[in-house]
Amino acid sequence: MITDNLKLIRKELPAHCTLVCVSKFHDEAAIMEAYTTGERVFGESRVQELSSKFEHLPADIEWHFIGHLQTNKVKQLIPFVSLIHGVDSIRLLEEINKQAGKAGKRVACLLQIHIAKEDTKFGFDAQELRDFLLSGQLTGMEHVTIKGLMGMATYTDDKEQVRSEFRELKQLFDEIKQSFTAQLPEFNDLSMGMSDDYAIAVEEGSTLVRIGSKIFGQRIYT
Ligand SMILES: *Cc1c(COP(=O)(O)O)cnc(C)c1O
Repeated sequence: MITDNLKLIRKELPAHCTLVCVSKFHDEAAIMEAYTTGERVFGESRVQELSSKFEHLPADIEWHFIGHLQTNKVKQLIPFVSLIHGVDSIRLLEEINKQAGKAGKRVACLLQIHIAKEDTKFGFDAQELRDFLLSGQLTGMEHVTIKGLMGMATYTDDKEQVRSEFRELKQLFDEIKQSFTAQLPEFNDLSMGMSDDYAIAVEEGSTLVRIGSKIFGQRIYT
């Protein structure tokens, strides 16, 4: 089933768009089925679960952290993670920079932007992001690389609302890329789109889609 699901999804994704297989709450056998068909990028939302899977599964898997990350979990995550999607505050970015420095690493991050018309989603708003980049604070953070932006649309059946939120995020992405080229030389990724809305996200310019249930089936939360 996983193999068939992946075939369908891959057909719909353009070449410039990377599939992040969101394997949170799914077991290692499920991940290995996707791995065997060629997938190498997996997304997890809990540090403990990610580190345990990292230890048991092939070393060429690229692990992305996609959920809300608490500052007190950063240190534990650094050794295993290749991209952190949801950096939603300066405080969190500072902690990642500090712990990455201690580990002698440079960690790739996406800044999460609040695009949904809901109070429940984390992230920067557009002006906060501009102010942060103008402040020069990033210049002192040598152990993080900002690779782009990430956002989650409102959870709704209204496709036009979802589309307009993704479009807004893409516009912000283009603006930031243009205005801060020197500060952000590796600013190339836009992470948007999940199982229910990735087709729209791809049309609106996503380069990284985070797909879970459409690949692995429903999650059983434990
Ligand atoms: C769980 C999760 C996903 C995947 O959700 P699906 O609807 O199962 O595709 C994507 N992004 C984030 C941030 C998530 O937490």
